[in-house]
Amino acid sequence: MTLLEVSGVSVSFDGFKAINNLSMQIGEPELRAVIGPNGAGKTTFMDIITGKTRPDEGRVIWGESSVSLLGMNESRIAQEGLGRKFQKPTVFEDQTVRENLAMALKNPRGPFSVLFYRKTAEGAERIEEIAREIGLTDHLTRKAGELSHGQKQWLEIGMLLAQDPRLLLVDEPAAGMTPAEREHTTDLLKRIAKTRAVVVVEHDMEFVRRLDCKVTVLHEGSVLAEGTLDHVTKNKDVIDVYLGR
Ligand code: ADP
Repeated sequence: MTLLEVSGVSVSFDGFKAINNLSMQIGEPELRAVIGPNGAGKTTFMDIITGKTRPDEGRVIWGESSVSLLGMNESRIAQEGLGRKFQKPTVFEDQTVRENLAMALKNPRGPFSVLFYRKTAEGAERIEEIAREIGLTDHLTRKAGELSHGQKQWLEIGMLLAQDPRLLLVDEPAAGMTPAEREHTTDLLKRIAKTRAVVVVEHDMEFVRRLDCKVTVLHEGSVLAEGTLDHVTKNKDVIDVYLGR
């Protein structure tokens, strides 16, 4: 089913249209890559669906009851189940992996919600489960600051999973990773996307190829092409944009 429907969305900054009549649908579950050259509107797109930026026009519709995300603030949208991971890992470095995950569990779907507070035993079990999922079972007692860059990114994805989101919005998850870490990240995202919607915003084509999923190409704030990576990279408009013609 369609989980997120963006339709005819536009936003201007000082008269410049950063997003121009953008429409896109994300299913649940689904793995989707959103790509595009610098300035294509990727960050603004993420800001709009997470409630950080309000569009001038268009609709952003969510879930089976088709509620509008427009007008909801960021924490309310997070509570709806839209979790965002920024490019740079922001884990608590002086806390252990277990403590980081416990903190995320105690604050499900944003710091203002106590509605889904889980009891300790249940929480401990869920922490083990998430640690297994992200591949950090052997590192639960280590301080997050001691982890490799890749491990920190997985921990942060785990912290997002603790919020039990329906859609994970992940910004350049593999940037700065070793080849082995990238492979682990690919597997992790594919696994998560079996039950949830995962939107990966990326400009590394090799990583997108590994994700092996539907790709949406943004350019000048609109969808330029959509389909498999092979399909979109054969598109003449996409070739022109990427070769800067
Ligand atoms: P991307 O993430 O794909 O590189 P952005 O969404 O950051 O693209 O930016 C899209 C366009 O909108 C760019 O030309 C950028 O300069 C412009 N832009 C983004 N945010 C602002 C802002 N707050 N004020 C003015 N221009 C902005």
